[in-house]
Amino acid sequence: MTKFEDNKVFIYNTLKANKEEFHPINSPNVGLYVCGPTVYSNVHLGNCRTFLTFDMVYRYLIHLGYKVRYVRNITDAGHLENDADEGEDKIAKKARIEQLEPMEIVQRYTVDFHNVMKHFNACAPSIEPTATGHILEQIEMIQDILDKNLAYEVNGSVYFDVKKYAEANDYGELSGRKIEELREGSRELDGQSEKRDAIDFALWKKASENHIMRWSSPWSVGFPGWHLECSVMSSKYLGTQFDIHGGGMDLKFPHHECEIAQGQASHGVKPVNYWMHGNMLTLNGKRMSKSTGNTLLPHELFSGENELLDKAYSPMVVRFFMMQAHYRSTLDFSSEALAASEKGFQRLMTALKTLGQLKFKKTEVDPILNQEIEALCAQCYQFMGDDFNTPRTIATLFELVGKINAFEKEGGITKIAEETKDLLSNTFSGMVVDVLGLKVEETGNEGLLDEALQMLVKIRQEAKQNKNFALSDKIRDELSAAGVQLKDSRDGTTEYIIN
Ligand code: AMP
Ligand code: ZN
Repeated sequence: MTKFEDNKVFIYNTLKANKEEFHPINSPNVGLYVCGPTVYSNVHLGNCRTFLTFDMVYRYLIHLGYKVRYVRNITDAGHLENDADEGEDKIAKKARIEQLEPMEIVQRYTVDFHNVMKHFNACAPSIEPTATGHILEQIEMIQDILDKNLAYEVNGSVYFDVKKYAEANDYGELSGRKIEELREGSRELDGQSEKRDAIDFALWKKASENHIMRWSSPWSVGFPGWHLECSVMSSKYLGTQFDIHGGGMDLKFPHHECEIAQGQASHGVKPVNYWMHGNMLTLNGKRMSKSTGNTLLPHELFSGENELLDKAYSPMVVRFFMMQAHYRSTLDFSSEALAASEKGFQRLMTALKTLGQLKFKKTEVDPILNQEIEALCAQCYQFMGDDFNTPRTIATLFELVGKINAFEKEGGITKIAEETKDLLSNTFSGMVVDVLGLKVEETGNEGLLDEALQMLVKIRQEAKQNKNFALSDKIRDELSAAGVQLKDSRDGTTEYIIN
């Protein structure tokens, strides 16, 4: 495996508006926190893009040998309909409309989210904490901020005192917003808000009578503000200062700006060293978004049941389509673009299979070819290390596809050194399978294959019982030539292993 010592990673840090070399606080350990979904409806493809971006980041860091603790939360309380601490809780609203318990809504859409992520071959996070599972910790953090005089209580609600905080800190450092502009742009109606200042944000809200998601606290029966859960869960599981925090660009303000303020106020340190933000997936040029209904759902794509689609597309093709764009660029969804990705994906996966089957033939080394392949392999790491540039990595992989196909025509891998052959195999499959997270799609015929193989195993056993060893050996040898090994155990049963 390639080691992180040999392969630098540069990350575009939103906080510095610059690419910086990645140095974990406690290498080889890396702490990665990603804002997870608010589980009040099915995740759409835009959400999936952000989660697949950070899946790729996680995979690449692991591929380099880092030990990554990846925390991605589930927002199951506190996310109100608009970002200005007003409106109904998104989950409670859905529960009211559907006449279900809020936790039934949470369960339904968490299960959907996990299913979708599985289809996309996304790794499960190391920890997936929920907001409702951390109410006590949230209350503790609010008390801490109150004790530091950076928050105040009004009528059972607690608000973060932005003006006070900004006396000693740079509120707006992540999003580039200025306090004055924020105040002017605030939508709050004069006199109707209990906040001292329109730019303050809620840490705890007293629940109105009909607000069904509610918990006891020293201030009121109420619920935590949305930004708080991520500060609490990231510091609990990754420490008060950790390496990477990710999410979509739309979360920069207010969510992440407020996370910085809460962390700094409570712990006296900047919580995150590298802030990463993925750009939006668009549909017809407009951001894909639950609230506007401009969405496409993963299952519509997999079944082809949407008028925007000419046919169904498999999860791996969609994943590849997303990896073909750099995560900081917008990506517009179209059926034509997906059709092109489908062809590219198939070419890549065919080459992966071919590479696995090609035999190495020891011949005289062609130094130019040898060097070319080594350089292309090194390039894959350079591009991935350059702020996870997957499109350029994929372009390089396609250059390697050309070399692999040429080897196939020659009947084996020739004219390169054995170490270069190993480098090629490790880099190509490492990038395609481990880093980009692509896999050969199942055809749905696996059950049939199993039945056919079981039948052959049975015929062979009968042949052996009848002392027809010519037939039993023939079955074993021919299966072996086809890549299926039979393993007889002492108790007389036989297992098969597909190579
Ligand atoms: P939400 O469930 O609304 O909290 O969103 C979950 C994640 O999806 C967040 O990181 C958002 O930034 C991200 N997201 C929402 N819409 C899009 C989009 N159109 N493209 C990419 N990411 C998105
Ligand atoms: Zn968050």
